[in-house]
Amino acid sequence: MTLSMTRRDVFKTAGFGTLALALGGCAELVAQTEQATGGGKTNYALPPLPYDYKALEPVLSEDILRVHHDKHHAGYVKGLNGTLEKLDEARRSGDMSRIKAYSRALAFHGSGHVLHAVYWESMKPQGSRPPAGALRQAIDRDFGSLKALQTQFSAATKAVEASGWGVLAYEPMAGRLLVFQAEKHQNLTMWGVAPLMVCDVWEHAYYLQYKNNRGDYVDKFMDIVNWEFVESRFAQAMKMA
Ligand code: MN
Repeated sequence: MTLSMTRRDVFKTAGFGTLALALGGCAELVAQTEQATGGGKTNYALPPLPYDYKALEPVLSEDILRVHHDKHHAGYVKGLNGTLEKLDEARRSGDMSRIKAYSRALAFHGSGHVLHAVYWESMKPQGSRPPAGALRQAIDRDFGSLKALQTQFSAATKAVEASGWGVLAYEPMAGRLLVFQAEKHQNLTMWGVAPLMVCDVWEHAYYLQYKNNRGDYVDKFMDIVNWEFVESRFAQAMKMA
């Protein structure tokens, strides 16, 4: 994380947006953040990759991470900020003739940004110890066992139709964990869930290295999951619920 990132960026990187600030109830932090960002409306930022471009080799090559983070993820952030600018302009001019396209773009780029931010953190060089504590208890309760979750997550992710994601999420209404398949970035979700661990199965995520062997890529992803991060996301999501 760079020093230039604002506190709001930190929350946005975590995928919770300003909701985390609102629920945090810390007026001072909000004031500092508004000052730091100039109160601007188009301030989503590309989070730096949390490790070196080569750090996930041999599972994911430097080439893939450079293009994926610096071009694809950056493109979603740019698309999100650009859409917010267009919505701002539409409100000012009163011209809502493009509202359908802008609303679709907001969901697409916004979801793309959130999922990529969680994706980088979902992986750790050499992986981590298995999940423990409250997360492990929730996994056992909601899936039966860690193995059962891994089997479901892996199968769901491999079976995504065309471009999308496997998503382990916390669902606050029932207070439980669920596994989703996302198509593109924004489709097939359930409102309100917080993604905790995500696996990108757009071809740009693996094709340079794995060609059409999506299954091999997903199997290797499962070996380098950063369960410590998933635990912290889970704790954060439960606090916000
Ligand atoms: Mn991607």
